[in-house]
Amino acid sequence: MNVCDSDMLDSVFLAYGASKVNNLSEADVVILNTCSVRVQSEQKAFSYLGRVKEFKQKKTCIKIVVIGCMAERLGHNIKKRFNSVDLIIGAKDIDNAALRIMNLFCTNYSAKKVNPEIKSEIVRYVTIMRGCDNYCSYCTVPFVRGREISINYETIVNKCSSMVKNGAREIILLGQNVNSYQYEDINFASLIKKIVTIENLERIRFITNHPKDLSDDLVKIMATEPKVCSHIHLPMQSASDKILKAMNRKYSYEHYLKLIKKLRTAVPSVSVTTDIIVGFPGETNEDFENTLKAVKTIRFGGLYVFRYSPRPNTTAAAMIDDVPFEEKKRRHAIILKESNKISIEIVSEMLGSIQQVLVEEIKNGIIKARTRTGRKVFAEGRKEYVGKHINVNIKEAKINSLFGDIV
Ligand code: SAH
Ligand code: SF4
Repeated sequence: MNVCDSDMLDSVFLAYGASKVNNLSEADVVILNTCSVRVQSEQKAFSYLGRVKEFKQKKTCIKIVVIGCMAERLGHNIKKRFNSVDLIIGAKDIDNAALRIMNLFCTNYSAKKVNPEIKSEIVRYVTIMRGCDNYCSYCTVPFVRGREISINYETIVNKCSSMVKNGAREIILLGQNVNSYQYEDINFASLIKKIVTIENLERIRFITNHPKDLSDDLVKIMATEPKVCSHIHLPMQSASDKILKAMNRKYSYEHYLKLIKKLRTAVPSVSVTTDIIVGFPGETNEDFENTLKAVKTIRFGGLYVFRYSPRPNTTAAAMIDDVPFEEKKRRHAIILKESNKISIEIVSEMLGSIQQVLVEEIKNGIIKARTRTGRKVFAEGRKEYVGKHINVNIKEAKINSLFGDIV
C-alpha cells in the first residue's frame, strides 16, 4: 500500500516538473512515507528522521515531510520530537499530499492541471479500496487508515486502462482486504471480470485477501481467466484456533485448510503465500507448534513471519504481552528456517523446467521477469523483451530468485 501511495505521489511530482534524486545533497525535500503496522517500522522511521535532522543542520533549506500511517497516528507529536520536520500529512490525507508539499516552495501550484498517469512501467499498482473494518485485535490499520471504502469500479477500470495505454502490462490490485470489495452491485470477482477485458493487459494480481471473505466466485475466476495470476496471498496468522479467536480473525484453522484445498483443486499451479504472527499474547509452545505443523503441511510458496508487538488502541494491547522477546525471536527463527527449507525445495523442483515469464525490466543486459506464481526470474536478454511474455529454461534456483536462459 505504501509503495503504491509513493508511486502515486511520484507520478504527481513528475507531472509538476519535480524529479526523484538519489541522495540528500541534491534534494530540496525529503518525504518519508511511514508504516505503523509494527513497532519496528516506527522505530526505523524515527532513526531515519534522526539522520536527516543532522543533515539539515548542514543544509538548512532542505524540507522534511513525514506522511503515511505514523504521521496519522502520532501527528504533531513527531514535530515535538523532531522540530526539523516541516510538514506532517496523515494516511487519510494522502490524496492531496503532493500539492501541499509543492506549496512548501511556491503557492501557485494549485492552478496546474496534472496527469499522474505518465509513468510507463510494466507493473503498476492500483488501489481499489482504502481502510479496513475487520479490527483484528492486534492491528492498527483500521485506526490509522480508517473505515473500509471501496472505490468506484469505473474509476478503477479507467485508471487501469490509462496505465495500460501508457505501457503497463500487469496490474496489481491493492487493498487491505481486496476480496471484500463491494461497490454498488460489483464485488471483487465482477471487478476482475471487467478489468480482464482491457486490451493489451497481460496479467492481474491482487493483494491481500482475508480468508473469511474468499468466495467461490474468486476461486473460479482464478481457475478460468488466463490473465489472473496463479498466486494468492492469504494471511493465516496462526494455526491455533484459540489464538485465531483472540486475534478476532473469524475463521478456524480447519476452514483455512479447506480454502487451501479448494484453491489447489481449482488451480493446481497456484502458489499460496501467507503472513504469520508469532508470540501473540497467550501463545503457548503448543499453539506455536500447531502453526509450525501447518507451515509444514501446507507448504506455502513463501511467507512473512512477524514477532507480535502491541499497537496502541488495539484490543490486543490490553492483553498481557506474555511471550518473552527472546522466545518470540526463537519462534520467528524456527518458522523462517522451515519456510526457507520449503522454498528451496519448491524452487529446486523448477530446475530444468521451462517457465513462461513476463519481462518487467532490463538492467545491464539482464532481464527481470516473473512467473505467473510471482517468482522472480533473471536471464540475459534484450530491451525488446520488456513487456512481453517469454520462455526461460531454469538453470539455477535460489530462495527468492531463479536464473536461466531464454528459449
Ligand atoms: N490487511 C492485511 C494485513 C496488513 S498488515 C491482511 O489482513 O492480510 C500486514 C501483516 O502485518 C499482517 O498480516 C500481520 O501478519 C502483521 N501484523 C499486523 N499487526 C501486527 C502486530 N501488531 N504485530 C506483529 N505483526 C503484525
Ligand atoms: Fe489489519 Fe485485520 Fe484489517 Fe488486515 S484485515 S488490515 S490485519 S484489521
